[in-house]
Amino acid sequence: MKDLIKKSIKDLKPYKVIEEEYRIKLDANESPYNIFQYIGELILKELTALTPNRYPDNEAIDIKKALSMYIGVNEENILCGNGSDEILKIIIDTFVDKGDTVVSHSPSFAMYRIITQIAGGSFLEVEGDKDFSIDINKIINKANENNAKVIFLCSPNNPTGRIISREDIIRVLDNTKSLIVVDEAYYEFYGETIVDKIDDYERLIVLRTLSKAFGLAGLRIGYGVASKNMIETISKVKAPYNLNSISKCIGRIVLDNKEIAFKNIEAIKNERDRLYKELKKIEGIQAIPSKSNFILIRTNKYKALMTRFKEEKILVKGFGTEGVLENCIRLTVGTDDENMEVLKILKEV
Ligand code: PMP
Repeated sequence: MKDLIKKSIKDLKPYKVIEEEYRIKLDANESPYNIFQYIGELILKELTALTPNRYPDNEAIDIKKALSMYIGVNEENILCGNGSDEILKIIIDTFVDKGDTVVSHSPSFAMYRIITQIAGGSFLEVEGDKDFSIDINKIINKANENNAKVIFLCSPNNPTGRIISREDIIRVLDNTKSLIVVDEAYYEFYGETIVDKIDDYERLIVLRTLSKAFGLAGLRIGYGVASKNMIETISKVKAPYNLNSISKCIGRIVLDNKEIAFKNIEAIKNERDRLYKELKKIEGIQAIPSKSNFILIRTNKYKALMTRFKEEKILVKGFGTEGVLENCIRLTVGTDDENMEVLKILKEV
């Protein structure tokens, strides 16, 4: 079998998800709030009216309508996917041939590298400073020197929580010829977007998701927002019926009841700011300012902390003791009780 596998897959390091028993889960930037607790009955009623013997609507019309009202763009400017991960793959499948270059900043979301490698593309990273600020000039230069097909900009950035300003994104659009993908998976925890520029720049695609702020990670609903022309182009690559009936139905109901998500977002933002203030007070911990629903910390007690979290069955994302994220741990903002437990451990260790 080995000699049949394509070259780009042979050395691929896959996206790893650690599945461990847990008491508190703060490793995957999910929402601590379960929407079923608020509108479970309404959802159940609509689900029983579904016809699962039929394929879902290929164009995802209902959920696109709800999204278009939420975002303030037309339905023809939206493509829905099975998580924004699928939209990422669709973009790479549309634009990146074997040997093409893709540029991003580092550290950032691991899937950019993985999908580029699968396509046989070459992935180049621009490292930020010690405080993880993102150097836009270096990105522009790297993209132009290497004739980059695609540039990924993640804002707020996972795993650092740092942002890229609108001015800087526009600078990249104005000074390169590449396709610019702005990943706004965590947009709702920040509040600034570049979506209003999709008609000015046909090379711009904004990625969003219902996994984070809307608390629907388990349903896998993501979407891309771009000019009509761009959406038509990338839609050619989409698999038929990519979004299943149940996800679409629940996603639409949740969007129709946005005020619940908005309340939860406010609670998470308040907790994030409180957690950050407390983290700043702890000796030996460098907390990176975040506009997202997680906070990255650097610690001089990495191993001891990871052991304690494990003993307490608290899942956090540790990045190891080497590389750009040396001794860093990413803490998803949980409920106030969960965050108190995290702070207690950090203070003790
Ligand atoms: N972009 C970023 C920056 C992310 O952190 C994630 C999830 N970890 C995704 C995209 C993918 O999100 P989903 O597929 O759940 O929509």
